[in-house]
Amino acid sequence: MSTTSPSKEPRDLRFLILGAGMSGILSGIELQKAGLNDFAIYEKADRLGGTWRENRYPGVACDVPSHLYSYSFAPNPEWSHRFAPGSEIQTYFETVAEKYGIDQRIQFGKEITRCEFEDGRWRIGFTDGTRDEGDIIIAATGVLHHPSYPEIEELDSFEGETFHSARWDGDVPLAGKRIGVIGTGSTAIQITSALVPEVAGLTLFQRTAQWVMPQNNPAYTDDEKSEFGQHPETLESLRADISQMFAEGFSNAVVDANSPLLVTIEAACRQNLEENVKDPILREKLRPDYRAACKRLIMSEDFYDAIQQPNAELVTEGIERIENAGVRTSDGKLHELDVLVLATGFRVDRFMRPIDVIGRGGVRLEDVWSERPSAYMAISIPDFPNLFMLNGPNGPVGNFSLIEVAELQFAYIMKLVELIRTRRCTEVSASQQATDRFDADRVEAAKKTIWHSGCQSWYLDDRGVPAAWPWTFHRFREEMETPRFAEYELC
Ligand code: NAP
Repeated sequence: MSTTSPSKEPRDLRFLILGAGMSGILSGIELQKAGLNDFAIYEKADRLGGTWRENRYPGVACDVPSHLYSYSFAPNPEWSHRFAPGSEIQTYFETVAEKYGIDQRIQFGKEITRCEFEDGRWRIGFTDGTRDEGDIIIAATGVLHHPSYPEIEELDSFEGETFHSARWDGDVPLAGKRIGVIGTGSTAIQITSALVPEVAGLTLFQRTAQWVMPQNNPAYTDDEKSEFGQHPETLESLRADISQMFAEGFSNAVVDANSPLLVTIEAACRQNLEENVKDPILREKLRPDYRAACKRLIMSEDFYDAIQQPNAELVTEGIERIENAGVRTSDGKLHELDVLVLATGFRVDRFMRPIDVIGRGGVRLEDVWSERPSAYMAISIPDFPNLFMLNGPNGPVGNFSLIEVAELQFAYIMKLVELIRTRRCTEVSASQQATDRFDADRVEAAKKTIWHSGCQSWYLDDRGVPAAWPWTFHRFREEMETPRFAEYELC
């Protein structure tokens, strides 16, 4: 299908961007670059940064190499380490937003309660009673966004401090305190490694053991940084190498449970465990009984060292309840604590909810997604015209750069938007048929992935089906490059 209609003037479109995290900032910059300056970015918090604004726990870092976890158009020669700490990533987003003037375009403290498609436009309402309207919504509201609190008896009865890892209370002093951490995901592992050296005691409550891939995280030298600064092509080629390594290596492997690379990865994790955990009892407690990369692979250079320190304890007995003084486990033991950290993950099926999103003909997103969220290509939902998601449901989530994912998705969305701008149509949304077919194919393919090989994880939906892009990253790139317009209802 041709995307131009030379006889008519392009339409002026107003864009409403929901969220000022990595994807929202990207959207603003890209719209600006395209000369589409009529946009608003709404952010409910008082600061940009999304995940990196919210996750301020000790040890927070990205396990994707920083030179890949950067916008393609904003390389950063100054990354301090191969895997930069969270505070540096937050500063990066603030710096890029400022450089492109996007920080001035974000309206902070604006929590959206409702988005309704009426007479061909999206009308949105905020908690403060104000309203706005526009032609196109870009939902950049994030995935790992809504904390998941564990259902543990008497959770509120603890008399010390309790908080979720994504709601870290930096005012609570930790030095010399007894800390309990519930969970063994990427977050808990980073917290444990960071806190053990400074606290009196750290008790890690493990429900499921994790495979841990050794991670080497060297600092970049001043010479390297100045080389990157003076010769951008060096940085570009480093980024291309890392991207290729991820795309052709890990991301291909995880979608094929029979991949030889997964065997190699598991061997590296097993060797890490065998060689670096001395006590055979502790070693067995830390040994997973499922395949490596079934859950999101943990990357750590210092977790095994931290958990073997005299002030660290791994508790594998189940948690029975929380009491005034600490955590009571099923063996009857009370683990007395001063601070309890809930590193228990996120409600990953929420996306832009609890916003009440109402599409064509009064269709409510809450009803359409009542069983589970879905979207054609993770981007468009039938009957929700001109609303497009970045990092939406069932998109790529493996251990690779969500920035790269969002950039590819944004370019795809702009090709759909171009149909509206050039007056080929006024409304674009995926057809129900295409969405159903996409979902059926996705579910079939997901069964072949390593995520479906017999473990519990946040990748799995309510049916136990991995809610992620189950094909290669190469295929994702190809799909994003050329939208199949025939799969859309264009009216
Ligand atoms: P997560 O991977 O979902 O881990 C949650 C942990 O809490 C699991 O160990 C889970 O145990 C445990 N848990 C939940 N409810 C529990 C209960 N009632 N009792 C005992 N244990 C309970 O969450 P996360 O660690 O916050 O990580 C989420 C994702 O964020 C990661 O997978 C990653 O994508 C991202 N992340 C990335 C980085 C990075 O370096 N890039 C760092 C942190 C987070 P089970 O395993 O038994 O369910």
